[in-house]
Amino acid sequence: MYTGFFEVFSIGIGPSSSHTMGPMRAAARFVRLLREEGSFPSVRRMRVDLYGSLALTGDGHGTPAAIAYGLMGLDAETMDGPREIGETLLLGGEQQIPFSATDDVRLHKGESLAEHPNGMRFTALDGRGETLSTAEFFSVGGGEIRMNGKSPEKQDRVSSPEVPFHFSSCRELIELCEKEHLTIAQLVRRNETSLRSAPELAARIKLIVSVMNDAIDRGSRARGTLPGVLHMPRRAPQIDARLVERFRRNETDALTIIDWINLWAFAVAEENAAGGRVVTAPTMGSAGVLPAVLRYFERYGHKDSAFSISMGTEVLLLTASAICSLYRANASISGAEVGCQGEIGVACSMAAGGLAAAMGGSNAQVENAAEIAMEHNLGLTCDPICGLVQVPCIERNAIGAVKAVNAARLALRGNGSHYVSLDSVIATMYETGRNLHPNYRETSLAGLAKHALTC
Ligand code: SF4
Repeated sequence: MYTGFFEVFSIGIGPSSSHTMGPMRAAARFVRLLREEGSFPSVRRMRVDLYGSLALTGDGHGTPAAIAYGLMGLDAETMDGPREIGETLLLGGEQQIPFSATDDVRLHKGESLAEHPNGMRFTALDGRGETLSTAEFFSVGGGEIRMNGKSPEKQDRVSSPEVPFHFSSCRELIELCEKEHLTIAQLVRRNETSLRSAPELAARIKLIVSVMNDAIDRGSRARGTLPGVLHMPRRAPQIDARLVERFRRNETDALTIIDWINLWAFAVAEENAAGGRVVTAPTMGSAGVLPAVLRYFERYGHKDSAFSISMGTEVLLLTASAICSLYRANASISGAEVGCQGEIGVACSMAAGGLAAAMGGSNAQVENAAEIAMEHNLGLTCDPICGLVQVPCIERNAIGAVKAVNAARLALRGNGSHYVSLDSVIATMYETGRNLHPNYRETSLAGLAKHALTC
């Protein structure tokens, strides 16, 4: 199953693709369903029930507000940041209805829908309080949603679009590349340009890079505290100021590069935590890893690469997209399903493989880099304190980015041969995730969320 570049990298507002972007899309999809059914003009009230991880961490993740945005028909890609939600909203941008993000969005803590830990039920009511329509959705990671009871082709997602090269394992991917004499990035490019024109793909890559870079630049300058009960001060501007000062004083430190990577990852992760505009890579909670590694390539890595900065950037992103597709096909990118392995772990794997490719690595070295990166994220739990995408998430982005650079360097020092295949590490990650106690899968009931601070 092939997941396309445009789906892997989507633009939206933080702090969480599964808890913000997914519910927002589900709400918009439900409004569309009401129009399709013809019941839209009769709707006087909406009720939304959240289950599982969405109920337990929805408040910290800003889920009720995201649902309101979706009901209003707002587009996550063009929104700049959070908006005030009043006592009414314009359903589908047309019809004024009363809406309370606290009363009309009900959090069923301790209850789960059988099919997925991120479940939602939308109900439209008429003027007498009678049900006009109801539908269940699941937010399955990276902003992707599935409607319960709908066949795959009725879902919004373009599942496995018609492309020349389908692959469902890394082994198949590498064999296809060998047969066609292509790199992984070239193969993804051929797939993508079968769906749209080359200029359209180039424009999208440019947009993705600019949103990532804007998030780094905004986050490096922004001051103050992050939203939520932790009142966490933003740390990126402090790291930035210290780096600038050291540069001004001409101080040298062999590990300065690590400080820079930390800064870029912090800047994006803090922007995400503040509800800013970021790119899912593969999720919003892990949105800082890939931009930090891209900036590393732009500043430092390209000097040892045969690629120009712009070509290397494209190669990095196209390769990372193929790696993400493998995780989506064979495991999960949802913290609620497999813990943080599926978010920071996958981001680290995508960034490591992408960087190895941008540095001129062979397909085998790319696989090796992606595998190393995931191998050392196995077992990573998801336990956000107070349900906020802040602790441990922000630091975890920085650690993930540095680890990705290290994994790429390790792979590039070898000849591509390795004992553990990417396919086997993906299978291990999925099995480990499913075996994690549910409390360690984005519920804030265990781990740091239990021991470090109670909210
Ligand atoms: S701990 Fe990891 S998976 Fe969980 S919310 Fe934070 S970044 Fe996402």
